[in-house]
Amino acid sequence: MKEFKAESKRLLDMMINSIYTHKEIFLREIISNASDAIDKLYFKSLTDTSVGMNKDDFAINITLDKENRTITVADNGIGMNEEDLENNLGTIARSGSLAFKNDNELGEDVDIIGQFGVGFYSAFMVAKKVTVISKAYGSDTAFMWTSKGADGYSIAEAEKDTHGTTITLDIKDNADEENYDEYLTPYKIKALVKKYSDYIRYPIKMDVEHEKLKEGTGVDGKEPEYDKEIVTETLNSQIPIWKKAKNELKDEDYNQFYKDKFHDYTDPLLHVHSKTEGTATYSALLYIPEKAPFDYYSKNYEKGLQLYSSGVMIMEKCADLLPDYFSFVKGLVDSEDLSLNISREMLQHDRQLKIIAKAIEKSIKNELKKLQKNDREKYEKFFEAFGTQIKYGIYESYGMNKTDLQDLLMFKSSNGTATTLEEYVSRMKEEQKYIYFASGSSVSRIESLPQTELVRDKGFEILYLTDHVDEFCLQMIHDYDGKEYKSVSADDLGLETEEEKEEIKKEEEDNKDMFEFLTEKLGGKVKAVKLSQRLKNHPVCITSEGMLSVEMEKVLSAMPDAQGAKAEKVLEINPNHAIFGKLKTLFDTDKDKAGEYADLLYSQALLIEGMPIENPVEFANKLCEIMAQ
Ligand code: ADP
Repeated sequence: MKEFKAESKRLLDMMINSIYTHKEIFLREIISNASDAIDKLYFKSLTDTSVGMNKDDFAINITLDKENRTITVADNGIGMNEEDLENNLGTIARSGSLAFKNDNELGEDVDIIGQFGVGFYSAFMVAKKVTVISKAYGSDTAFMWTSKGADGYSIAEAEKDTHGTTITLDIKDNADEENYDEYLTPYKIKALVKKYSDYIRYPIKMDVEHEKLKEGTGVDGKEPEYDKEIVTETLNSQIPIWKKAKNELKDEDYNQFYKDKFHDYTDPLLHVHSKTEGTATYSALLYIPEKAPFDYYSKNYEKGLQLYSSGVMIMEKCADLLPDYFSFVKGLVDSEDLSLNISREMLQHDRQLKIIAKAIEKSIKNELKKLQKNDREKYEKFFEAFGTQIKYGIYESYGMNKTDLQDLLMFKSSNGTATTLEEYVSRMKEEQKYIYFASGSSVSRIESLPQTELVRDKGFEILYLTDHVDEFCLQMIHDYDGKEYKSVSADDLGLETEEEKEEIKKEEEDNKDMFEFLTEKLGGKVKAVKLSQRLKNHPVCITSEGMLSVEMEKVLSAMPDAQGAKAEKVLEINPNHAIFGKLKTLFDTDKDKAGEYADLLYSQALLIEGMPIENPVEFANKLCEIMAQ
């Protein structure tokens, strides 16, 4: 019996006592070693004809023995001689991971296993004893390495006909907190191979027992009887779809793969398949789903792409590959430049991964632009599902991403169709200074807003903002191509002529006392009561001054942690409407009534905006009183 080297011993201790919840990765690690060993011999065979092996001759075999509680993984790869066994398994040079652990004093094994993967020793998470029988290619003698864990290991000569390595795990007994039995079921093993090792380049085979209907039974009223039959199944598909040439693949292939892999019932809206060489070498297969998953806009949704290193999955959801505003993208990246056992922490700083992430972001953007240009209907579907996320992306970055993202935005507009900002600007009239927008819960509501009258009258197009985040987003973008955004409810629309301005100013001067009185009567609910320059037919409307619009107030107050932010509201009255004359008369004859009218008008303006009124009962009663007069 030999002792493990100190570092190996520590790692091994960690494995044996591990409470790590994803112990199942042991199979991935062992299969990946087997695949590497085959790679080595396969590459040798390419230049050395004496090897006498073809690609098809290579395989990894898994055998389950439920009674004796063993899993055996055998490969016909390059194998190990005595010295290799000693060096490779007695001293595991996981210095990278251990150094990391020392530096950071991670107390828990959980972290290190999750972050690094741990190679061969991970077998000890599920096995009480590990036996490795190996015969190096070209050698006459086989050797056996055994270990029951921390005590040490022994190496002895053994019998083995062919080159390669056979690893047998004596699976631990079931414990309260851990079910090890499941690793002895074909069902679990198949699932693990599918999950982690589907694209290993060599067949992973296992003998599986099937039941076959005995001939002549189960028909003509005879009871069915079954024969047991052993079938050797290949558990992995071997060729990753993303490694195939594009012209070998049909849309159906891509869609089927998407549905299988990402558990969606609906075909994706779009797929992007790319192979890139250069500063980073990788293949990527990306999908944009047609609909947002049910939990997409919840905290539970996790973004990320699957990450493969040369066909071996190393991470189920690599979040660093996607910016938040493209978090809806599904897919995978396979790169030779990444090591199999790279940790989450190390990945975050990995230069290669950063390059890949940047390239992926760019390619998603380009594909979306292409779709927007070439298939508007599909793009609108996309934007319906995920547009909000992109708007959040702009908003949350305080507009820093705007150059990248603003051209992906679509808004409904008074033009009748959904429009991009670029299209809007291209239609702007010569004398038009601003990009106008109006907010509301639906297009029909917005269209009936009194505030839109004047802008529409001038023949200027209005963007209809129906999404909560819209106005916040536009505020962050600030301008498109130098054209600033302007709400139709903003205090200065920049539309009136000097003459009109003069006229209004004079009228306001003449009625200064009345407006001051009405403002006071409304008791701080509005900042001012004013003559409207924008109303044509409607009697009143509410507009706002400052950064926060009425619509934004509505959104903010609907939030769970609403802080009661209020827009600075202005009640505008149409000077050409009969109600204005009435107010003037009342102001002179019956001030109390004038005050009551102001209150009613304010409530009506709130209702038009879709805002709650403070006292609906009082409002209704007063209105009835007037109706009854
Ligand atoms: P890694 O694979 O990251 O180097 P492992 O702990 O998984 O680390 O394995 C240690 C070494 O043992 C491998 O590098 C390889 O040289 C050797 N080894 C493990 N499994 C096999 C195998 N099936 N055939 C040949 N060599 C193997």
